Amino acid sequence: MIDKETLARVVEFHGHMCPGLAMGVRAAEVALAEIGPHSTDEEVVAIVETDMCGVDAVQFLTGCTFGKGNFIHRDHGKNAYTFIRRSDGKAIRLSPRPRSFGAPDTDAERATLMAAVRSGTAGPDERARFWAVQQERSTALLEVPIEELYDVREVDVAMPAMARVMASVDCAVCGEPTMETRIRRLDGDELCGPCFDARLAGRSPVAPPTTRRPGP
Ligand SMILES: [Zn+2]
Ligand SMILES: [Zn+2]
Repeated sequence: MIDKETLARVVEFHGHMCPGLAMGVRAAEVALAEIGPHSTDEEVVAIVETDMCGVDAVQFLTGCTFGKGNFIHRDHGKNAYTFIRRSDGKAIRLSPRPRSFGAPDTDAERATLMAAVRSGTAGPDERARFWAVQQERSTALLEVPIEELYDVREVDVAMPAMARVMASVDCAVCGEPTMETRIRRLDGDELCGPCFDARLAGRSPVAPPTTRRPGP
């Protein structure tokens, strides 16, 4: 388990302690133990199937980060994580157990409080209670056996390509240098995505042909 100081740094990075972050911490612990230490380059690649709180813990602790290119998001809306070691291809996937976030009774209160906090209708007492519940739930998640949270198994995955540095092309409309693989061509101009979309949206729909093609 990670030490208190490191945990405090994770919380500082994310902004608060919450059950989602705790789930990410637990996933990262498994990755660090079974796949390898904190990546300074691309030694380990993470494929994450969520874009919620937990990914901040995974990035901070494993060194698989969005900016280095060894952090891949697949938008499945699942709290599932795959870690791949480049040196020998060993990979594990952690898939969350049903209801791993909490029992329905404790989570009913948490859900009600969260809705009130999110909508801005919670008073000071409700807010305090919400964060107390979040802390309680997070602490519990940090302490339960990993088997209660995740099914962890070795998987076969194709090795993701190394991150590549691409050349840039200046967009013909806004002039902003844009990675060449993102440039789109319209009317012979090389455009960035937003300028391409804007030009296309500003066009009238293609007029129907006025002459029929000669039939057979
Ligand atoms: Zn959070
Ligand atoms: Zn542009």
